[in-house]
Amino acid sequence: MNGTKKITCGKCNGHGIIEGYRHVVNGVCFACDGTGYKVVSASHKPSKMYSVIITADFNDDGKPFRGTVFGQKARSVAEAKRKAIKTLSRGCFVDCIDDIEIEEHA
Ligand SMILES: [Zn+2]
Repeated sequence: MNGTKKITCGKCNGHGIIEGYRHVVNGVCFACDGTGYKVVSASHKPSKMYSVIITADFNDDGKPFRGTVFGQKARSVAEAKRKAIKTLSRGCFVDCIDDIEIEEHA
């Protein structure tokens, strides 16, 4: 291998055409220029969706909430957690959060 590989274009699923955009330049996929694939570096890992699960005691009553708060797109659990922490740290309830778990979407 020379350090690159072809991956199926995720925008058009390899068709090179997006049906919903037929009225715009005949639906040619912008992401892959109608080729249906993209050339990426061999070490490229596709992004996956991860569930961000938090444990947080919002009411401070000793009965913490635990549940999925949003989905996070990332290439690894570590990256998903990093991004989730960044997002959550902007929220107003950041002080209530006891734990953040990352689970890969099935
Ligand atoms: Zn495409």
